[in-house]
Amino acid sequence: MSADMLDQLYREVILDHHRHPRGRHHLERVDVEESGLNPSCGDEVTLQLELDGDIITDVAVIGRGCAVSTASGSMLAELVKGRSIDDARKIAEIFKRMMHGDDPPSEMDLGDLEALTGVRQFPVRVKCALLPWVTLLRAAVDAGEKHAAATAGEEEATDHGNG
Ligand code: ZN
Repeated sequence: MSADMLDQLYREVILDHHRHPRGRHHLERVDVEESGLNPSCGDEVTLQLELDGDIITDVAVIGRGCAVSTASGSMLAELVKGRSIDDARKIAEIFKRMMHGDDPPSEMDLGDLEALTGVRQFPVRVKCALLPWVTLLRAAVDAGEKHAAATAGEEEATDHGNG
């Protein structure tokens, strides 16, 4: 595929997520919430996670911003739902490296996320693409702490099943 065709494909993927963002819904239960801001573009995003142990059972992405940040948040919602906190954190770290020039890893399917590497040629846009993922990394820290606290609680109450 030529570079032009690839660019075109990437643009279409990004626009589709921008027009129909995934994860724009209310969660029944919000276990972790983090917000992020990208002042250089004016993007805002709030991530809400619903957790079952260390598994992210649902994700809400609320925000406003440019097409790139909206698309990136939408892809995030698609990619991390159903994954462990650890896996979500891994994807965020891989994506950060991709946006700074690394090739996408062959061992992990990152879905539409690869399309965002097309904006690497516009350094200002890199921050837009990373905003939801940097916010996710902070949410993952909160989630990890919450999970660790819950696990410690279970060990103390050995005779009580929790469900
Ligand atoms: Zn932006």
